Amino acid sequence: MSGFDLVIIGAGPGGYTAAIRAAQLGLKTALVDDNPVLGGTCLRVGCIPSKALLESSYVFELARAGLATHGISAGEVKLDLAKMHERKDEVVERLTGGVASLMKKNGVQVFEGRGRLISTSRVEIGNGNGKSEIEAKNVLLATGSLPFELPGLPFDERRIVSSTGALSLGEVPGRLLVVGGGAIGLELGQVWQRLGAEVTVVEMLAQIAPFADKLAARMLQKALDGRGVRFKLKSKVERAEVSEKGVSVRLAGTEGESEELTCDKVLVSVGRKPNHAGLGLERVGIELDEKGRVQVDERLQTSQPGVYAIGDLVHGPMLAHKAEEEGAAVAAGLAGKQIVVNYDIIPAVVYTHPELAMVGKTEQQCKGEGLAFRSGRFYFAANGRAQASADTEGLVKVLAAEEDDRLLGVHIVGPCASELIAEAVMVMRKGGSSADIADTVHAHPTLSEALREAALAVDKRAIHA
Ligand SMILES: Cc1cc2nc3c(=O)[nH]c(=O)nc-3n(C[C@H](O)[C@H](O)[C@H](O)COP(=O)(O)OP(=O)(O)OC[C@H]3O[C@@H](n4cnc5c(N)ncnc54)[C@H](O)[C@@H]3O)c2cc1C
Repeated sequence: MSGFDLVIIGAGPGGYTAAIRAAQLGLKTALVDDNPVLGGTCLRVGCIPSKALLESSYVFELARAGLATHGISAGEVKLDLAKMHERKDEVVERLTGGVASLMKKNGVQVFEGRGRLISTSRVEIGNGNGKSEIEAKNVLLATGSLPFELPGLPFDERRIVSSTGALSLGEVPGRLLVVGGGAIGLELGQVWQRLGAEVTVVEMLAQIAPFADKLAARMLQKALDGRGVRFKLKSKVERAEVSEKGVSVRLAGTEGESEELTCDKVLVSVGRKPNHAGLGLERVGIELDEKGRVQVDERLQTSQPGVYAIGDLVHGPMLAHKAEEEGAAVAAGLAGKQIVVNYDIIPAVVYTHPELAMVGKTEQQCKGEGLAFRSGRFYFAANGRAQASADTEGLVKVLAAEEDDRLLGVHIVGPCASELIAEAVMVMRKGGSSADIADTVHAHPTLSEALREAALAVDKRAIHA
């Protein structure tokens, strides 16, 4: 079959966004995925099911232990885990079905099967019915990533689980060891802790959420610890033995100490690796970078003209909205519009409670780069809306350039941090300053006033601090 302007391999947020945008721009577009359910990791086994479980487990915890604060008493609160999973699956089904409808609506031709490059303009599609080939002027690789396995801790999805296994445990484990204190480990750790597991997070580095500002990471750790999640920092798993009864794990600290732990399940969430095995990259001469990611230029073109790559497959944070932005940029580029992805202002969020959200540079990065900055902080404990909601943990920290007040970074730990960060991203996108936030009227009483107060604090003008 011939005649496509663009063939996309991979229907995750990067691939399907590129498909919609390309179709909107008049390009004849095909989308190939080896899974009959469109939406990729994010919709099937990532962002969406994890957020569904986070919300359900939050409601469970609130009903179990948070109502008395509001003067409400309820009867016995019971967990129906099967029903909770059912709701999560329904959410996934609705959204993935939505992606399929969007493909139809936009006239994107969907092919189910494994895609492989035959040349820079031919893609082989293999499925149960055999093999076929399609041809296009351009090819976009968007095959995402897979969870890293640790040596000595191979996934069996029974005792040693990946994030995918941890999203569908049939019962609440008594003791869950989470290896890796990044966003995925913290979120899934909090889900199972709220549902009744004893959760310990092991992190090799000296802070959880290693990408975050040190103060924000410390506050988040304290908040999670206060809710019962235990942490072992500067530690790594040295050895693990799986038996019928559980898993015995030997932890080694970076200062030479060691410890034995037993648990029922281990969630290994130590990062993800680009997924390009069997894609035919060597065959067509597509180069990888030093980290095994597909190498691309600023237009997201690989080392082969006409072949592009985006999302978890290439450099940058492994985040759905980054993949989407890149997908839209490639489509626009093919239609003759120049769009450059600004990697400096991609927000990152940990959707625990409290949430952690950030954009731009951390204080440590500013110092490392020798950037002179001023900083302002405001604690949610002094915010009227947070008090009214009985949700007062956390703070907002704003970093602005000493020279011209340009916003360098914003770090939020607290309620609705994932929503609040959008204002900071917008200001940074426009090259704005802390004064742009400080001098903007924010509705009262709102959590967003905490961001304004932190911006005012940069100039020592905070009112409620
Ligand atoms: C538990 C978890 C929670 C997460 N939470 C968040 C979050 O809250 N926010 C956020 O921004 N990010 C989150 N992420 C990360 C996010 O899911 C990824 O960054 C995002 O899905 C990457 O999008 P992508 O389009 O690059 O690839 P993917 O979404 O991985 O999609 C790739 C698609 O390609 C298909 N494919 C692979 N190889 C082939 C082939 N040869 N032929 C055909 N099809 C193929 C795959 O089946 C898949 O459908 C989370 C990830 C996990 C695991």
